[in-house]
Amino acid sequence: MLLFFSKSTTKQTQEMILDALRRSGKKGFVFDLGEETVLSIEGVSIAMDDLMARLPEKPVRVIETAKKYQAVCREALPTGTHVSVGSETIGSGNVTLIAGPCALEDRKQAEAVATVLAEEGIRFFRAGVFKPRTSPYSFQGLGEEGLELLKEIKKAFGLFLVSEALDEHCLEKMLPVVDIVQIGSRNMQNFSLLKELGRCGLPVLLKRGMAATLDEFLMAAEYIVTGGNSRVILCERGIRTFGDHSRNTLDLSAVPYLKRETHLPVVVDPSHATGCAFMVRPLARAAVAAGADGIMVEVHPDPTVALSDGPQSIDLAEFRLLVHELKAVSSAVGSFLSQYFSSLS
Ligand code: PEP
Ligand code: MN
Repeated sequence: MLLFFSKSTTKQTQEMILDALRRSGKKGFVFDLGEETVLSIEGVSIAMDDLMARLPEKPVRVIETAKKYQAVCREALPTGTHVSVGSETIGSGNVTLIAGPCALEDRKQAEAVATVLAEEGIRFFRAGVFKPRTSPYSFQGLGEEGLELLKEIKKAFGLFLVSEALDEHCLEKMLPVVDIVQIGSRNMQNFSLLKELGRCGLPVLLKRGMAATLDEFLMAAEYIVTGGNSRVILCERGIRTFGDHSRNTLDLSAVPYLKRETHLPVVVDPSHATGCAFMVRPLARAAVAAGADGIMVEVHPDPTVALSDGPQSIDLAEFRLLVHELKAVSSAVGSFLSQYFSSLS
């Protein structure tokens, strides 16, 4: 059950409900959604009618949904969540491109990619500084030193930063620097981290676990939203199947399914979904045609020497081609690729 209150409603009203819930062993969460404050309750065995009659301020609306993921279900916000980052908005009918290297390696690499993004009018620069690597022998990212470099790139090129937090410790360090916190596939069900993200104050790009159902994916998002942060962007990044021709299998059906089930924006990452650079552009085009709100791709000035995920990284020339193609596909499906006019172009 979702109770919607106007933002001017006092905390006292919500506390009365939360108290009654606690006394009957139930949980409730208070969070903002769009222009309203919402109180979500799972099930309703307490005497709601009596409680409602005693409330000093009444909810403006009550929604009963059978969905387990009440806070993120489409009915909770039929107009959709629009995540704004500076002058940009993700999820308002436009297509947002997020691009950059898997891992930040050095200034030269970062500047080469950032220059092309800025020239193409692409605003979101992705680059990992804390990397989740399968092997402990692999490059683990530049860490805190990388955050300093990211800060400089952001300032010099006017880009918004997307970077992964591996745990609560990195999250704290990243908050003053990044614009969107990325949560990787391996951490989709790191519940203590999800709770912390509810309080972090920044938008979160939540990647689907490589073996997660869409129900589990949405329940992970529910943790963040009920924790107090409704600025969540979902990212389909491929799942494990029997197919061995690609690193993972891109589940494009997730796009229409999630767009119907949830009000959160949906982004597709064809780089991790395939592990093969030659599949990235075709699947990025397909994802936009399927209705994705955004695409995240890995780009490297020389993928052959990349310290992480080289085989799935496209080079700068191919990235320019991708921008051109996504512009065409988005306009063919009645949308537009978000691009800004850059003084560099
Ligand atoms: C990444 O984006 O570099 C990454 C590690 O992604 P995933 O968590 O989807 O594997
Ligand atoms: Mn990667």
